[in-house]
Amino acid sequence: MKTRRIVSLVSLGCPKNLVDSEGLVGTLLSNDFRVVANPKESDVVIVNTCGFLDASRKESLDAIRGAVALKSATGVKRVLVAGCMVGNYRELLEKEAPGVDALVGFGDYHRIDRIVEDLVGGHAAPEFGAERRRVDAALTPRHYAYLKISEGCDHTCAFCVIPSIRGAMRSFPTEDLVERARTLAGRGVRELNVVAQDSTVYGSDLYGELRLPQLLRRLDEVEGLDWIRLLYAYPTEVTDGLIDVLSSGKRVLPWLDVPIQHAADNVLARMKRGHGRAVLEKLVERLRRAHPRFAIRTTVIVGFPGETEADFETLLQFLAWAKFDRLGAFRYSREQGSAAADLDGQVPEEVKDERWHRLMALQQRLAFDAATARVGSTIDVLVDAAKEGPRPARCRSWLDAPEIDANVLVDDDTLKAGEKATIRVTEARGYDLAGTRA
Ligand code: SF4
Repeated sequence: MKTRRIVSLVSLGCPKNLVDSEGLVGTLLSNDFRVVANPKESDVVIVNTCGFLDASRKESLDAIRGAVALKSATGVKRVLVAGCMVGNYRELLEKEAPGVDALVGFGDYHRIDRIVEDLVGGHAAPEFGAERRRVDAALTPRHYAYLKISEGCDHTCAFCVIPSIRGAMRSFPTEDLVERARTLAGRGVRELNVVAQDSTVYGSDLYGELRLPQLLRRLDEVEGLDWIRLLYAYPTEVTDGLIDVLSSGKRVLPWLDVPIQHAADNVLARMKRGHGRAVLEKLVERLRRAHPRFAIRTTVIVGFPGETEADFETLLQFLAWAKFDRLGAFRYSREQGSAAADLDGQVPEEVKDERWHRLMALQQRLAFDAATARVGSTIDVLVDAAKEGPRPARCRSWLDAPEIDANVLVDDDTLKAGEKATIRVTEARGYDLAGTRA
């Protein structure tokens, strides 16, 4: 007797992978599969992996092994693996994660329903030819969402394998993206996080010219949204037109995530970033000049092959000068298939570690000083989680991207999850702020 098969999905890695997971879940729901959060309650577990760094691959392998173990301990019948590890680490998956029933590549995501049906059988799929209503899945809390505007990347950064996994850059049509944003706003999304591998080259393939400013202008008109945040910009592609939108939007925030990766000319050259320190200095000055409160988030890598102590000092001096509002730092990870994997001058792990800690100590000082300077001022926030017992409401200011940045803690049980509010800052607690409703 056919029944509605039950699927669960474990989504790992970056927001772009999360958007893929939402697509997979949407296709399954549109074909009458039930999708549950707890893998133990499912017939089929899908693990959407991240293959970006050693640590993320380890996390993915652990999740896969956990799912495979459920096959003997619970009613789980099949385990499928998707995501970036399928593209670049098949041998490792086969060696390190026996018991997986199928590896699903990006090219097969559109038919995930049939793959699951073929593997587990007995699914009460909608009748052939029956009208299938597209179900829109969300894996983020109701009040924020990610909008992926393109897939793939045309850059050749020496430390990165994403282009070989996700292919060349393909922009999604502006009309579809605006329609998606309206749908998201219609379902209560207030914060739209615009993501891509490199968001700044949006449109260059599809329209033969950079079209990100035009897209952001259209998104800026979408009723119901409060904040539109732009992530993953590439330093050389931040045009004056883009800076103009970012600094004059109604909903588009004066905020930009632009990973610089390093600041020493010869390290940037070895990374094949296509620019030097001067471009980064000019970019920081242009953004700060464009809006009095412009906030910049960035990411850096320490211990890239050939990085000398002097290069690292150059990076520290640049960070001390730029005073980025938010920063993430990674130790260089030697990626199989990347150009840098074969470079001379590989930096010993203990040196990477020591440099990572020195850099984080500097950034912590800058961040704590900036937080302290905010005491007494007011700041706009979105409430991510309401107060629960002794735990204050956990909010996030417009300066903070979801899941990766700081919080604003408010001991007020009138604040509801998803609500936008203005908070008077009364205290700095390290990276976080605390306050009361203004
Ligand atoms: S811009 Fe560079 S680091 Fe980012 S995905 Fe493309 S190749 Fe990788």
